[in-house]
Amino acid sequence: MKTWLSLICFLIFAQGFAHAEGLRVHYKNSANWENPYVYHWDPATAKVPNPWPGQPMREEGNGWWSFEISGLKEAGLVFSDKGGAQTPDARASQVDTWFKYGEPWPFNPDRLKLFTFPRGLRKSVVLSFDDGNANDRRLIELLNRYNLRGTFHLNSGLALQGADNYIPAEDIRALYEGHEVTAHTLTHPDLTQVGADALKREVLDDRRNLEKLTGQEASGFSYPYGSYNQEVIDLLRQNGFLYARTIGQTHSFRLPNDLLQWHGSGYQSDARYLTHRYLNESHSSLTNLMIWGHSWDMGGSYESGNNWHACEEFLSSLGNHPEVWSATMSELATYIQAIGAANVVPVGPQQTRIDNNGLISLWVRTENGAAEIKPHASLILRQAL
Ligand SMILES: [Zn+2]
Repeated sequence: MKTWLSLICFLIFAQGFAHAEGLRVHYKNSANWENPYVYHWDPATAKVPNPWPGQPMREEGNGWWSFEISGLKEAGLVFSDKGGAQTPDARASQVDTWFKYGEPWPFNPDRLKLFTFPRGLRKSVVLSFDDGNANDRRLIELLNRYNLRGTFHLNSGLALQGADNYIPAEDIRALYEGHEVTAHTLTHPDLTQVGADALKREVLDDRRNLEKLTGQEASGFSYPYGSYNQEVIDLLRQNGFLYARTIGQTHSFRLPNDLLQWHGSGYQSDARYLTHRYLNESHSSLTNLMIWGHSWDMGGSYESGNNWHACEEFLSSLGNHPEVWSATMSELATYIQAIGAANVVPVGPQQTRIDNNGLISLWVRTENGAAEIKPHASLILRQAL
């Protein structure tokens, strides 16, 4: 009786939380804060419900703390050591957001340690090139020679106009076959300067044109000049874009935590050094080398590392490498999303069940290496989360 009653209470509570406007934020810090506090506000009205330093968070195990914010769909946040050491401003806009060492994740990133990439691989590379310049022909020849997949962000308006030095629209489908083609706006404006109507047209018409030209979905994006603001991000999110690449250069190999602000490891001029580092480092977690660039910028001196010889050098070291998964940006983004969508359920002191809720296979670490979990299948791992 008591169990039933608490189950009913739980269902009412769960239902209530799902329906009311509200957010749950989770926080984990490498610092030794006794009990983190969270200070929050409504970004639309700048209203602050609780004075600095806000409210104490509730411990939820494995080093995580949580806090529920009712009545808001979006919140600005600062986490602090009860008003002492503090994080920079952060933002939460979905029901659950996990902040690990300051980075927001749409799922608990601790679960990443249970997974591998396809076929048990732990390293991955994505290669992302902007603009659809005529030099893409030469770049694609190299990618194909080394069995690598590229992701190309094109300005379909310029291609359709037959602008000088752009790949003509009628050549796009055949040339980029086997690679990913996604949007980069119609005409390459600075999206923070064009106004709401042009913003919508530049982004959505480019996607529609490219989907017609290639016959493939084009739900990725790359920001022209790397320029964007919250309005641009909101438009992409509302229209179902899977990811958007910035011109960030982290010089690290972290997986992207926010797919609509996906920063690269580095520009093509640093590709040789970054690739060398990446292949020689050993990582305990899943990692990604993301190089971005432009085929029109492959000229220059050998010393600057910014030319076709240097390009072939780093591509040949990555091509067919037995430890590296070469993926398009969509493939990697979809794989990360599928990890986030899986149920990860503790079923014993050292056992975790993983239910694959996605449409693609997931791979997990086992004592023998790795195992595949097909879509809608489950597997019990002898490891705790
Ligand atoms: Zn561009």
